[in-house]
Amino acid sequence: MSPALEIIGLEKTYANGLQALKGIDLRVENGDFFALLGPNGAGKSTTIGVICSLVNKSAGTVRVKGVDIDENFPAAKRHLGVVPQEFNFNVFEIVEDILIHQAGYYGIPLKTALQRIDLYLEKLGLADKRHTRARMLSGGMKRRLMIARALIHEPSVLILDEPTAGVDIEMRRSMYEFLREINAAGTTIILTTHYLEEAESLCRNIAIINHGKIVTNTSIKNLLRELHREIFILDSREPLPQDLAVDGFTVSRKDDYCIEAQIEQGQDLAELMARLHNKGVSIISMRNRENRLEQMFVSLLEQAS
Ligand code: ADP
Repeated sequence: MSPALEIIGLEKTYANGLQALKGIDLRVENGDFFALLGPNGAGKSTTIGVICSLVNKSAGTVRVKGVDIDENFPAAKRHLGVVPQEFNFNVFEIVEDILIHQAGYYGIPLKTALQRIDLYLEKLGLADKRHTRARMLSGGMKRRLMIARALIHEPSVLILDEPTAGVDIEMRRSMYEFLREINAAGTTIILTTHYLEEAESLCRNIAIINHGKIVTNTSIKNLLRELHREIFILDSREPLPQDLAVDGFTVSRKDDYCIEAQIEQGQDLAELMARLHNKGVSIISMRNRENRLEQMFVSLLEQAS
């Protein structure tokens, strides 16, 4: 089966010459809950804009459920529900009408549309706002209305650009619960965020984007493991023995006098030193090599502040 989303060599240069995407490759499998994480200005919204055809790409290929957006955008669009960052409904319209019009746009019979409106307004905590004018809704409610509207044609892939921006903590929790529920029922979800915690609590897989490039693409589990891994460089007084294996630890020989050791969360460096000592290796100096990802997150935080 085709993946939910496939992006190959995506580039975008804006009219002012700014290269926002510098060759992005991404693949999101069906049923995944996927995070695109990056600081402000990294290129997340540009990527989403290209997928839903709001932004013209400069190069590359985008396929949604195997459908190339250049070849048949209407077919790709049917698979997609997109919740952009900016509210783009008519704020003078009544909530229910916004949803009915969207359903009409997709050719959904009114009876079915009304059933779905019942369901999604209820699930998103907006049932009592059904007959309210959209401009009367709070920011968080508007965001939830955008989600209801994106789901009205029951797309198999839901893409949300910073879904919790401006949403208070209580509502955030219920939004998470709802997203987990529709993901469990089979909808592939892709969200952008600049909070690792958000990706961590919701998603299975993650790509980190910075300056228009994907810097990491892995499972959340692996990412967290890598984030918590420390790497030490140990120097030995004497030339190292050939066999350096220490049960339970990852150690490798850099040269005749130097060892690189990975210490996972919960492992004890002192124990490694003692075990090396038992092998006749005396360590005379040691330094901590900075974790690549940790370094990156520190620089992301510095940029964000
Ligand atoms: P993110 O969503 O990760 O915050 P964006 O995709 O919005 O990042 O922006 C990526 C880069 O492209 C930023 O440097 C931003 O200023 C720039 N950019 C976004 N939209 C435009 C535009 N319409 N014209 C020129 N530059 C843009």
